[in-house]
Amino acid sequence: MAQRVYNFSPGPAMMPQDVLEASARALVDFQGKGVGIAEVSHRGKEFDAVREEAEQRCRSLFAIPAAYEVLFLQGGATQQFDLIPMNFLKGYAEYVDSGQWAAKAASTAKAYGDARVIATSKADNYSHLPAGWAATAAADYLHICTNNTIFGTRCPTFPEHHTLIADMSSEIASRPIPVGRFGLIYAGAQKNLGPSGVVLVIVRKELLAKAKKVSPIFSYAEHASAQSCLNTPPTFGIYVLLETFRWLEKQGGLSGMEKLNTTKAELLYGAIDGSGGFYKGTVTSTAERSHMNVTYVLPNEDLTTAFLKEADAAGLVALKGYRSVGGIRASIYNAMPLAGVQKLVALMQDFARRKG
Ligand code: PMP
Repeated sequence: MAQRVYNFSPGPAMMPQDVLEASARALVDFQGKGVGIAEVSHRGKEFDAVREEAEQRCRSLFAIPAAYEVLFLQGGATQQFDLIPMNFLKGYAEYVDSGQWAAKAASTAKAYGDARVIATSKADNYSHLPAGWAATAAADYLHICTNNTIFGTRCPTFPEHHTLIADMSSEIASRPIPVGRFGLIYAGAQKNLGPSGVVLVIVRKELLAKAKKVSPIFSYAEHASAQSCLNTPPTFGIYVLLETFRWLEKQGGLSGMEKLNTTKAELLYGAIDGSGGFYKGTVTSTAERSHMNVTYVLPNEDLTTAFLKEADAAGLVALKGYRSVGGIRASIYNAMPLAGVQKLVALMQDFARRKG
């Protein structure tokens, strides 16, 4: 195999090598049975055991209370933008617009009823989280996005609401979370949990009982009672999730992950802040800086292009920022080793010395 590069892609993103290798083996031959995991029935005992173990490990890693269901669904995080109002929007719902995905969640919900954006930081190109807002208790739910993949912000703390719904796609499993404070948490797998095609949903059971009646395939309650096998689930993706959960346990669980992620983020932000202004972070409130997506700019477009070219040649790939932010976005999800960030920082310092 060619030397693996340090892949800073925002998603689908880098996965741990152990997870890739174990999954590749299981794809060809599952436990010496002469058949791969993607070739067996989703209603058979092999996949049953995989789904069951994935759920149990997920429950233990995230410390999920028994009052919650764990679902492995399809349709990406984007489909959740529809499912949430379809199931839970009766009177009105409140949305915090902290970035492009949060805005999309809100605009999607408007097709189903009274979805209100109660705060936005769009006017500042989402360079900080919206401030000075309060949700109302009469709202069916409050929707937030806890890590804004494009703009590099994250919630340092979580707001209070009886039904707090959170898109955690780009930070799931990167730090411990107080699951009991949320009504529903969802995340596309393709950044921190495995390949695209699986969405993890953690939902309070009591909400399912109160949900609106919708066609089974759009109903959380139906998926829960069918243990995520209402129809054929993304079986191989769920297998990779299981391997990722095993790997996460070996890293010391979510608190172990948080420690490593903090070290990586501090190293990178330290290099940005210590560059004498050559590199500038795009997030204006440092407490809200994401530990997953680190966004910064260079003095001009030519230097950005030159930096990206050198990075690529050094095996540091997919660093180009999203077009509405520009500059660099280094996505340093769980699977990015400290050595990858150290190599990036060394290049940044060397580049600034030569070009600054
Ligand atoms: N929410 C967030 C925070 C995201 O980063 C993304 C994808 N980058 C999405 C939602 C959309 O996810 P999907 O492509 O799985 O629908």
